[in-house]
Amino acid sequence: VRGVDLLRDPLLNKGMGFTVQERQILGVHGLIPPAVMTQSDQVMSSLQNFNGWTNDLDRYIFMMGLQDRNEKLFYKVVTENVEKMMPIIYTPTVGLACQKYGLTFRRPRGLYITIHDKGFIFDVLCNWPSDNIKAIVVTDGERILGLGDLGCYGMGIPVGKLALYTALAGVDPSQCLPIMLDVGTDNKTLLDDPLYIGLRQNRVRGKPYEEFVDEFMQAVVRRFGNQTLIQFEDFGNHNAFTLLEKYREKYCTFNDDIQGTAAVAVAGIFASLKITGKSLEQNKFVFLGAGEASIGIAKLLVMAMVGEGMTKTDAVRRIWMVDSRGLIVQNRPSGGVTGQKVTFAQDHAPIDKLAEIVKQIKPTAIIGASAVPGAFTEEILTMMGNNNERPIIFALSNPTSKAECTAEQAYKATKGRCVFASGSPFKPVELEGKTFVPGQGNNAYIFPGIALATILCDIRCITEDVFLESAKLLASMVDKSSLDKGLVYPPLSKIREVSTDLTEGLINYAYKNNLAYLYPEPPNVPAYIKAHQYNTDYQDFMPAMYNYPNGLGTPV
Ligand code: NAP
Ligand code: MN
Repeated sequence: VRGVDLLRDPLLNKGMGFTVQERQILGVHGLIPPAVMTQSDQVMSSLQNFNGWTNDLDRYIFMMGLQDRNEKLFYKVVTENVEKMMPIIYTPTVGLACQKYGLTFRRPRGLYITIHDKGFIFDVLCNWPSDNIKAIVVTDGERILGLGDLGCYGMGIPVGKLALYTALAGVDPSQCLPIMLDVGTDNKTLLDDPLYIGLRQNRVRGKPYEEFVDEFMQAVVRRFGNQTLIQFEDFGNHNAFTLLEKYREKYCTFNDDIQGTAAVAVAGIFASLKITGKSLEQNKFVFLGAGEASIGIAKLLVMAMVGEGMTKTDAVRRIWMVDSRGLIVQNRPSGGVTGQKVTFAQDHAPIDKLAEIVKQIKPTAIIGASAVPGAFTEEILTMMGNNNERPIIFALSNPTSKAECTAEQAYKATKGRCVFASGSPFKPVELEGKTFVPGQGNNAYIFPGIALATILCDIRCITEDVFLESAKLLASMVDKSSLDKGLVYPPLSKIREVSTDLTEGLINYAYKNNLAYLYPEPPNVPAYIKAHQYNTDYQDFMPAMYNYPNGLGTPV
């Protein structure tokens, strides 16, 4: 690429970072203002721009614009300011951006495949300009964060997730592809909006939907190979479970809402054991919500307990689930115990109210993933404190407005004795002269590392063990000083190191357990990872210049 096309290619463009000689050789001299800037000057200038905006949505739009112009600069800005940038390019701001994706949509990023492309999905995939795709994040937009059906606007999520693949783990962005499967939307506001960017029709369900997704999976393998990682993201509850069961052993795939959440939450529980001094089997868990998140966590917990020698029946007995109809028990008069919930239906009298459930069951841990704000009332939190020396309280629902309780409420009601974690960030809490730091059970601790490990050692099938191993690895990275503050995750400022360490641990695990297909096995895994991580420094475009001796290099 030469000339003006170079400036228009975000993968190559350096903007004012091109040297004068590069500008001449590449034919862009004069097309850029005369000053030559270092990349760190450009980072500073971008940050100034970023800070100049008064609201987060504008900051999101600015950052997406930067990503469209100059990818290396975008990732340098993000990686050098992870804590500041994560809430913008990912939750919560990405949620806001999705709600306005029609407005924020500027330049094509990712592929839109609609139900009308059935029969031709492979052809659409062929329109993607690169053959070398290693990772896809795909959504159908039905359950975007806790915001519900956003249809085609959901594209912001795969875009944001893949940005974290690169920013946190160092996956090469040119090998990543965000995909929106547009099968319509049942969101009436969108259907009535003349500016809606997706298919204006209700969601296609049932057999035609299944055939469509089947064709998509086959087309991906045909176009990019069977080792292509396909991450499912923000599908509705029913489809999420069905598609995972259907594809998990046939494709290189995982569902982050179910499995990634499970790994990060179980990591938090593993780490909390070091604080409570209990073994896993000495715990009794009550889940509020029995959806993708809770079922995923509960299943992984059962696996962990079985791994420690318990029978599955005994493990399941330690898990109590509550959905919108109350405690999940066998033959529940209010019904609704179907699908994944059946495993966890206990032999117990039905109870409706969470407070009564906590009173009777006396859990050591309550985990909220119900998107019911304030569901962990003062009464419930106080009871947890009275029944346990160190109660575990996880309020995982996102965004912040949906959390089952705040960090402050949990610490206050338990006089600072609880081990608290949440899905969305809460500030540290001061209580009687002591500072408590709430952990954030953010899936971003897990999925970028799993993705990089999968790509780098060619894992073809991501088994459930990989998520349990991820949970163990993440828990082992929480140091004593964090635990002393009640923090069950590494600080967010360390999330890039965490991702790289997780990748290393998983690659070692994959070779030990015959999951890796890359041979020969890299002799030095850390060096191998480092060599393959995306480098945010600009490339030098100048060719090596030399001449032949004795004037032989020029005609006489
Ligand atoms: P989901 O599959 O739709 O499940 C929601 C569950 O909540 C359902 O089982 C539902 O009951 C239950 N529920 C709704 N109202 C209730 C009520 N009043 N009382 C008790 N239970 C009630 O959603 P999901 O994917 O699991 O996500 C749930 C929440 O977790 C969201 O806010 C999401 O943001 C959050 N989450 C957090 C993380 C994280 O922190 N890392 C990760 C993933 C998800 P029925 O089954 O009876 O309908
Ligand atoms: Mn999600």
